[in-house]
Amino acid sequence: MKIAQIAIDVPLNTYFDYIADDVSVEDIGRRALLPFGRRLVVGVIVGVASEVADPKFKLKSVREILRDAPPLPPHILDLARFCSTYYHHPLGQVLAALLPQRLRRTQALSPITEACYNVTEAGLAIVVGDLPQRAAVKRKLLAALQTKRTLARRELLQISGSAGSVIREFIAGGWVRESAMPLTVTRNAAALPAQAAAHALNADQQTAVEAILGTPPGFAPWLLHGVTGSGKTEVYLRAIAAVLARGGQTLVLVPEINLTPQLEARFQARFPQATIVSLHSNLSEGERLKHWLMAQAGNAHIVLGTRLAVFTPLPLLQLIVVDEEHDSSFKQQDGMRYSARDVAVFRAREARIPVILGSATPALETYHNALHGRYKLLELKARAVRDAAPPTVRYIDLKREKLMEGFSAPLITAIKQRVKRGEQSLLFINRRGFAPVLLCDECGWLSGCPRCTSRLVVHLKEQRLRCHHCGHEERMPHHCPSCGNVDLAPVGQGTQRLEAALTRLFPEARILRVDRDSTRRKNALAEMLEKVHAEEIDILVGTQMLAKGHDFPKLTLVGVLNADGGLYSADFRATEHLFAQLLQVAGRAGRAALNGEVLVQTAFPQHPLFAALQHGDYAQFAQTALAEREQAGLPPFTFQAMLRAEAATLDSAMKFLRAAVTLAPAATQVQVYDPVPALMARLAGKERAQLLIESRSRGALQQFLSAWIIALQAHKTRNVRWALDVDPIDT
Ligand code: ADP
Ligand code: ZN
Ligand code: ZN
Repeated sequence: MKIAQIAIDVPLNTYFDYIADDVSVEDIGRRALLPFGRRLVVGVIVGVASEVADPKFKLKSVREILRDAPPLPPHILDLARFCSTYYHHPLGQVLAALLPQRLRRTQALSPITEACYNVTEAGLAIVVGDLPQRAAVKRKLLAALQTKRTLARRELLQISGSAGSVIREFIAGGWVRESAMPLTVTRNAAALPAQAAAHALNADQQTAVEAILGTPPGFAPWLLHGVTGSGKTEVYLRAIAAVLARGGQTLVLVPEINLTPQLEARFQARFPQATIVSLHSNLSEGERLKHWLMAQAGNAHIVLGTRLAVFTPLPLLQLIVVDEEHDSSFKQQDGMRYSARDVAVFRAREARIPVILGSATPALETYHNALHGRYKLLELKARAVRDAAPPTVRYIDLKREKLMEGFSAPLITAIKQRVKRGEQSLLFINRRGFAPVLLCDECGWLSGCPRCTSRLVVHLKEQRLRCHHCGHEERMPHHCPSCGNVDLAPVGQGTQRLEAALTRLFPEARILRVDRDSTRRKNALAEMLEKVHAEEIDILVGTQMLAKGHDFPKLTLVGVLNADGGLYSADFRATEHLFAQLLQVAGRAGRAALNGEVLVQTAFPQHPLFAALQHGDYAQFAQTALAEREQAGLPPFTFQAMLRAEAATLDSAMKFLRAAVTLAPAATQVQVYDPVPALMARLAGKERAQLLIESRSRGALQQFLSAWIIALQAHKTRNVRWALDVDPIDT
C-alpha cells in the first residue's frame, strides 16, 4: 500500500495519512485534493510511506494529486518546517499561509501561459535607424524584438508603458505576430549585464560594496546602516549586479506595497534585461501565481515583495535584501505571527548566502546583534548627493507657543517662506481624518467605538465617525447622544483638519493631503507623488505614508505637528518607533542641493530622544535605549512570547489564560507572568487578554513553548480563540 503523508490547513500539529496508489517521492511538495471530514480540501504532500503510522484508523484515499504546478521545492518545505517549529504553528497551516491563494483552491489550474510577440521577417527587415527620431518607443521596442525575436508582453511593458498601443501598430503593419507561450520556457541561468551606474560610489559605499562582494560565499548577515539618502539602494544594486552576473536570483523585501513600483522602475532601469516580478497583496490572484511560478522556475531574476514574499521558491537564490528592516509591517500580526526579517535571516543561513538588512534606524534587536558581532555592520555616514547637508532640527515648545488650528507661529512663518521661494513643505501628523474624537462640551460625552477600546475619528467631509481599528462607522450625530446638546466639537487634529486650516492660511498655495483615505484608489498615490515631483504642489500634509522612501528634491521644510504621543507610552517600544519615524520624516527635508529644516512642535523639548534627533544620531539614541532595556530586562536582552486570547467576555479570555498558566511546564529559566487585559482590551467586539512569557535564554524559552503548546492544544476550550506570538512586537 502506498501512503501519502499530507499536511492540511487545520490547527493540529500533525500530518495525515492517505492512500495514494500513484504517489512517489517526486510528489513530495505537491498539492493533493482530498476528502477531510465532509469537505474536499487541498493539502501538501510532505512524505511518502508504505506503512501506516497508526493502523487503528481506516484510511481514506487521496482524490487526486495535483500535478498542474511544480512541487514546492525542498528548501521551501524546510523553511516551512523551521517556521512551524519556531513559531509553534502547525505545519499544514504554515504551508497554507505561504502558498499563493490560487494554489489553495480545489480547482485545477488552467495551463499558465503569457502573451508574447514574435518579430516577423518583415519586422526584421526594418532598419531601426530609419524610423523617425521622435518615435522613441517604437525604436526601442523594435530594436528589442529584433534582438530577442520573441518577447513576452510583460517584458515589452517593462521597456515602455505605452508598449500596448505600439505593438498593435506593429501587428497591423505585419511586423509582429501575437502568440502565447508557456510560462516556464527558459531557466535563466545566463549572466546578465547591468547598465552603468550614474555615480561613482563614495568612500562609505565603496567600503560596504567591497565588504559584501569580497566575502567568501556563504551565510553572511550584513546590517547596512545609513541615513535616508545615504545611498543604500545603490549598495543593493551593486550587490544585485554581482548576483545577476553569476546568473543568480535576488529576493528584495520591502515593507510597503507602495514602495514597490518606484523600486521596480529603478531596478529595471539599471538591469534592463532582468526579469523583475513583484509579489504583494495588491496583485490579482492570477498575477500573483504567475509571478510566484516565474520565481520558482528561475525565470525571474529579481523578486520584489512584501512580507509574504520571503517564502517564494527561488532555486537560484544568491542574495536577500531586506530594506527598512526595522519596519513593523514585516511582522505578521495574525495567523502565523512571523517576522519576515527574521525568517529572511534564517533562510539566508540555510541557503548559505548573504542577507543585507538596510535601515536608517535599525530595530534595536538588529543593532544589538551588530554591536555583538552576530551581524556585520556597514555604515554610510553621509548623504550621498553632494552638497546635501543633514537638515537642521529645531523644537517649538508648545508650552510657550499658542497654536492656531494646530500650527505654531514659527511653523507658519517657515511655511510662508517656502511658499514664497517656490520650495515645498511637508507637514507630518500621524492621524488621518479630521479630528481624533468628537466631544460634547456640556456633558463630556466622547465618541467612543462600541466595539473597541478606542475613539471614533471624525471624518468631516463624509460626515461620518469611523473607528480606525475595527472599521466600525456611523453617521456624525447632530446632537449629543447623551444629553441632546447640539454643540459638538471635533477635538484635536487630523490630516483633513490641517488641510482645511492650510487652505485658509495659504489660499494661494497648492495643497495636497496624502493619507490612507486620499490614496484608496489604485494608482492614486503614484499620481500624487508624480505631482509633487512635477512641482505642482507647494504643501504636503500627510501621515507616515509620506515618511518612507520618497525623494523630493524641492522639499526643504518638514513640520512635525505633534510627536508627543510616543514619548510616555505604556508600550516599551514606543520611543524606538517614534525616533525611527521622526528621523525618517526628517530625512525628507533637503535631500538634494537645497538645505532642509525640520520643525518639531512638542511640549517636551528636553526629552533625550529629541537631542539625539537633533544630531541625527541614531547610535546615541540606540545606546541609551539599549542600556535602558538591559536595565529593565527587556528585549533584546530577554526573549519573549505572548499567549493571546480573545473571547466575547474578558472573563472567559482571562479564565483561559489562567488555565494556561496551570498547564505551563516547570522551567527554571522561564518566567510566566500573570494574565492581563490587552492594552486595547476590546477590539472589533472581542475582549482580549494576554499572558507574557520571558526568558534570558532563547533555547530555554523554545523548550518551554514546545512542551506548553502540546498541553494547550490538548486543552479543550470553548468560545476562546488563542494564539501564540513568538517575539511579539506589541506587548
Ligand atoms: P537610500 O536608499 O539610502 O535612501 P539612495 O540609494 O536612494 O539612498 O540614494 C539617494 C540619492 O543619492 C539618489 O538620488 C541616488 O541616485 C543618489 N546617490 C546614490 N549614491 C550616490 C553617489 N555615490 N554619488 C552621488 N549620488 C548618489
Ligand atoms: Zn472599533
Ligand atoms: Zn452631551
